[in-house]
Amino acid sequence: EAVVNRIAAGEVLQRPVSAVKELVENSLDAGSTSVSVLVKDGGLKLIQVSDDGHGIRYEDLPILCERHTTSKLSTYEDLQTIKSMGFRGEALASMTYVGHVTVTTITKGQLHGYRATYRDGLMEHEPRPCAAVNGTQIVVENLFYNMIARRKTLQNSADEYPKIVDLLSRFAIHHKNVSFSCRKHGAARADVHSTAASSRLDAIRSVYGVTVARNLMKINTSDNDQLSSNFEMVGLISNANYVAKKITMVLFINDRLVECGALKRAIEIVYAATLPKASKPFVYMSIMLPSEHVDVNVHPTKREVSLLNQEIIIEKIQSVIESTLRSSNA
Ligand code: ADP
Ligand code: MG
Repeated sequence: EAVVNRIAAGEVLQRPVSAVKELVENSLDAGSTSVSVLVKDGGLKLIQVSDDGHGIRYEDLPILCERHTTSKLSTYEDLQTIKSMGFRGEALASMTYVGHVTVTTITKGQLHGYRATYRDGLMEHEPRPCAAVNGTQIVVENLFYNMIARRKTLQNSADEYPKIVDLLSRFAIHHKNVSFSCRKHGAARADVHSTAASSRLDAIRSVYGVTVARNLMKINTSDNDQLSSNFEMVGLISNANYVAKKITMVLFINDRLVECGALKRAIEIVYAATLPKASKPFVYMSIMLPSEHVDVNVHPTKREVSLLNQEIIIEKIQSVIESTLRSSNA
């Protein structure tokens, strides 16, 4: 059973950045306004995520890391609306099967917090009282310590930390009212350091730099035809002056960071046809649609999604991008 759990956990958490994504999403779900990430050895030695969210109640700590423990759905309707977020109550449990997890948390109005450690889905001992200021800090150590081959592959790859920085950059521009930081252990300064920004463009400027921000144009489109498609999209896309070697596509659907290969390719096609010299755009896009229209089960890491009425949505987005590019280039 332990082996089965470990294999399943290795599927849910493919690499350190998958664990960081789950932890940061939990922090955001807890209403945090500040999320800090500290990483050692590309996440293999240590991933530490600290937030100022609502914390975890003492009585919830014993079962926190059991599989399918989630505080986020209680009714069938919840299940419907929450479907877009993928599997529930798997992330923390999975971390305990392939790493060592320590949770320190304090709920509002308490004088002290509690700390608990977990292995293989179980809390190791009674939570111990400890000093804590606010929110929750989750530490995952020695990720994949019991998956030798995986650990070896990851140890030889230099791009685990850049992947984490990239992830935090994406969160920082979508959740512009939350401050994020991401720092490598021992480094003096953070690689992502965003403070709550007044506009999305400000957030992009602080994370991706002035060159990107200066060359962006606002787009939006929507459709409220209940029968065909029903969605709203707002975004920022690069103009003819933005020249890069590869496309940057930051996509949030219903406030979840996802990937949609079909949409990304469709956007590349429009750029290639309209602005061949600037055909590798920077694209930030936020799409809202009924959650039952999002299918996240394409991939176990639940980043790749497909949408109901995908063709209609993609065509609408292509056409607004095309007209925006044409009018800016005229
Ligand atoms: P899910 O997010 O799908 O509910 P997880 O395994 O990611 O499942 O987390 C399990 C539960 O632990 C959450 O439902 C939540 O109640 C609690 N939790 C995890 N991280 C935090 C956090 N940073 N702040 C508050 N609660 C948290
Ligand atoms: Mg979660």
